[in-house]
Amino acid sequence: MAEIRAVFWDIGGVLASNGWDREQRRAVLQQFGVPADEFEERHELVFGTFERGHMTLDEYLDRTVFSRSQNFSHEQFKAAMFAQSKPNPEALAVAREVSASKKYICATLNNESRELNLYRIEQFGLKEIFTVFVSSCYVGMRKPDEAMFRLGLDLLQVPAAEACMIDDRALNLESAKQLGIHIIEFKSADRLREQLREVGVEVRPAMSAVNGD
Ligand SMILES: [Mg+2]
Repeated sequence: MAEIRAVFWDIGGVLASNGWDREQRRAVLQQFGVPADEFEERHELVFGTFERGHMTLDEYLDRTVFSRSQNFSHEQFKAAMFAQSKPNPEALAVAREVSASKKYICATLNNESRELNLYRIEQFGLKEIFTVFVSSCYVGMRKPDEAMFRLGLDLLQVPAAEACMIDDRALNLESAKQLGIHIIEFKSADRLREQLREVGVEVRPAMSAVNGD
């Protein structure tokens, strides 16, 4: 097996909670008393454009939440959106360890809108871990587009056989696998350590493995 030189990481559902997925939307809509049905219909129409970086967060909110007058502000709603983002410290520790070894180039390969992506990069200290951010909002593509994985490989200048992709969604991993990228379906930080070791990435074993549980 070719040695792994590049590790691509999803962010939402791996290194942190999802940014603006169904559960985050439900919580924030409830908080502001916005009817979900109407919102979701509008969200469906624009979220692809939004996540590909062709629409600002304010424009997105104008099209979804503020298509009618509301008794709260864009800023209040945005603060609630951002507050939904929570880190996964154990998974972040694995990413930090892989990156600190200097044996691998680490990049994100994630679907996120620009403002939320930036918030999460800063909030979770991702610039200290990752060299490149292949984020949908910067590259104008979304997973599972095969083209996005190809771009990731081109940017890092590694062949597919020397790369692995970590994602919590099996559907996103299908096209990466088609290209010959090693795939890791994220379940937990402990399991991730095992999965990385299985593809030859040097990382400490999970504590449960050390303790023999
Ligand atoms: Mg994800």
